[in-house]
Amino acid sequence: MTEDQGEHEFDVVVLGMGPGGELAARELAKSGLSVAGVEARLVGGECPYWGCIPSKMMIRAADLLAEGRRIPGMAGASAVSPDWQPVSVRIRAEATDSWDDTVAAERLARAGGTLFRGRGQITGPGEVTVGGNVLRARRGIVISTGTAPAVPPIAGLAGTPFWTNRDIVETEAVPQSLAVLGGGTIEVEFAQVFARFGARVTVVEAADRLLPMEEPESGTLIAEVFADEGITVSTGVRAESVHHDDAEGFSLTLADGGRLQADRLLVATGRTTDLAGLGIGAIGLDESARSIPVDDQMRAAPGVWAIGDVVGRGAYTHMSIYQAEIAVSAILGRPHQAAEYHAVPLVTFTDPEIGRVGITAAEARDRLSSVLTGITQIPASSRGWIHKAGNAGFIKLVADADRGVLVGATSAGPMGGEVLSMLTLAVHAAVPLRRLTEMIYAYPTFHRAVLSALEQLS
Ligand SMILES: Cc1cc2nc3c(=O)[nH]c(=O)nc-3n(C[C@H](O)[C@H](O)[C@H](O)COP(=O)(O)OP(=O)(O)OC[C@H]3O[C@@H](n4cnc5c(N)ncnc54)[C@H](O)[C@@H]3O)c2cc1C
Repeated sequence: MTEDQGEHEFDVVVLGMGPGGELAARELAKSGLSVAGVEARLVGGECPYWGCIPSKMMIRAADLLAEGRRIPGMAGASAVSPDWQPVSVRIRAEATDSWDDTVAAERLARAGGTLFRGRGQITGPGEVTVGGNVLRARRGIVISTGTAPAVPPIAGLAGTPFWTNRDIVETEAVPQSLAVLGGGTIEVEFAQVFARFGARVTVVEAADRLLPMEEPESGTLIAEVFADEGITVSTGVRAESVHHDDAEGFSLTLADGGRLQADRLLVATGRTTDLAGLGIGAIGLDESARSIPVDDQMRAAPGVWAIGDVVGRGAYTHMSIYQAEIAVSAILGRPHQAAEYHAVPLVTFTDPEIGRVGITAAEARDRLSSVLTGITQIPASSRGWIHKAGNAGFIKLVADADRGVLVGATSAGPMGGEVLSMLTLAVHAAVPLRRLTEMIYAYPTFHRAVLSALEQLS
């Protein structure tokens, strides 16, 4: 860490110290290069403080509550009343405390890197200015500045105290009612958490189903689960305007004339980048773009690499880490597989979890001449039958019939994100369908349902 003002020379300057930036800076420093990391907020980025980790901690707590409510009737258990509700829930998502930014900063220092705190700007080829410091990069700049919550253009919304993902993670109290704009991954995760914590939750989604980027069966499944849990869902309708006052809270007017009142409003739809503020025009890149285009070595321009959310190839922590490793290898001149995106996994951590890899059936039909799909229901599998309460889910497979391989798969159900691992491997390595059906699947596991789905491919 340095407070010196002036000019400094490094081999590499890493701009933005989220999951990918931190890894890149550390690995490059460990390899003997002199590295500067620049961070405007907290070392670690969105994931450990306002994203993956605190949201999954909240989900874990909410899932335990839901599991507790499922005990009656299981193996004769009767100790817990089916009406049991927590009297009150105080939220303390400790990640913001226990994921210590100074510890993260020390990791970089231990690897030999130097941290500059402040908002950095690219001010010329190989040059980043942060505060009064000018950092010159002999070998290159790695841009890993991520994205920030966006405010959608809804009349009256800007200026109201709506919650972003950052506010909802920092709250310590459960509101009586919560309106959630959008039905994507982050929105449905928080909707279920807060409903399980005792809030009255309504989700408004403009598309005709929840999780519109997923297989239609995923949206239907989550809508059924939400209906069972008392979460109201309005799909196929836009929020037209928002009003807030201290007495009434939020009132939303919907495009179909409907109205919605809630104490709190979560707006987690969309993220934004400020490429002009980042100064990428100084190195000949398009400042008006939404993301930074890169080649398969994560190169954006001579001596410039970009990784993570800012690249726009999947806004997931595992993508920023994957891309960081490719950029590090490219900078060090080490051989590495070029970036490939045919088997990107993603998990919506609702209960049931929805894991997906590769493309959906609809995308496959657009791109391929011969597509097969197979689907099997988890409750109909041995393990699903044993599991009983909370066993909703399915396995859906999408195959390229010409090549005889899977190109996409969804694994929804208890531990759907874990079952996804074998499907990710199958899509990634293009394992022939025949070999998948010849494999031995342990009995009675959730992943054994994959075999039934393979038999349904037609
Ligand atoms: C609620 C929520 C839940 C999520 N859950 C998951 C999940 O379960 N699994 C998953 O894989 N992903 C999840 N994500 C996504 C994940 O958090 C991001 O994909 C990941 O953090 C991206 O890493 P990044 O390094 O590209 O960017 P970021 O994590 O955004 O880090 C970028 C860093 O750059 C800094 N920065 C920006 N501009 C500058 C500048 N000019 N100068 C200096 N520093 C700058 C920022 O302050 C920030 O610290 C979730 C996101 C949210 C919001």
